[in-house]
Amino acid sequence: MTKITIAIDGYSACGKSTLAKALASKLGYAYVDSGAMYRCVTLYALRKGVIKDHSFQENEILKLLDEIHLSFKFNTSTKSSETFLNGENVEKDIRQMVVSENVSKVSAIHDVRVKMIAIQRDLGKNRGIVMDGRDIGTNVFPDAELKLFMTADTDIRTQRRFDEFSSKGQHISFNDVKLNLIQRDHEDTHRKENPLTQAKDAIVLDNTDLTREQQLEYVIKLISDLTLNVE
Ligand code: C5P
Repeated sequence: MTKITIAIDGYSACGKSTLAKALASKLGYAYVDSGAMYRCVTLYALRKGVIKDHSFQENEILKLLDEIHLSFKFNTSTKSSETFLNGENVEKDIRQMVVSENVSKVSAIHDVRVKMIAIQRDLGKNRGIVMDGRDIGTNVFPDAELKLFMTADTDIRTQRRFDEFSSKGQHISFNDVKLNLIQRDHEDTHRKENPLTQAKDAIVLDNTDLTREQQLEYVIKLISDLTLNVE
C-alpha cells in the first residue's frame, strides 16, 4: 500500500501522541514526536542554567543550539520511540513539569524552530511517517495526505495528564496541570511564528467522548478510504 504522511496537530494533552503511536504501530510507519524536540532544547537550557525563574535571554538559548544533538530510538519492550539528547535517553526528564512550564516560550524562538523543522522535514522525506505537534499540517508537511486536528474538553485533557503524572509518581495538583495546559495552549495559538491553527484541509477529531480504540478505528477507516485514492 502507498505510504502517506500523517500530520497530527492539536491542543496540549489531547492524546495526539497516543493516537500517533497506535497508528504508526498498526501501519508500520515511523512515529515522530515533534514536541519532544522542543522539550529537549528546553531541558538543555534548564540544565545549563540559561532558564532561571521562567525567564531567559533569547541569545543565550541560541548559543546552545549547536551543542544540541537529537536522536530517536525505538524501544522494543515499551514499543515506543524514545528521545535522546546528546546520546542520553531523556524521555522521562523532558516530561517534567518544569519543562512543560518553559517549553512554549522556547518553541516561539525563530532559530529554534528553524533547526527543529529542518530535522522534522528530513525525518519525513520518505513518507510512511506519523508526526504530531502544533504546526505539522500547517507548516512542516503542508502536503501531508492526512491531517488531523485534535481537541478535547479541557477538564478531560487535564484528568488524562494528571493521571499520567500520578502513574509516574509525580504529584502535581489537578489545578496546576490545568493551568499549564491553558497557558501553553494560549502561548502556542498566539505566537507569531507557526502558531497552532487548524489547517484548512484538516479533519477535526474531538475525542472527549471517544475511547482510544474508537478513535483509532475511526482514523484507520479514514486512511483506508484515502489510500485507495493516493497514487
Ligand atoms: O506535544 P508537546 O505537548 O510535548 O509539545 C510541547 C511544546 O512544544 C508545545 O506546547 C509547543 O510549545 C511546542 N511545540 C511546537 N511545535 C510543534 C510541537 C510542539 O511549538 N510542532
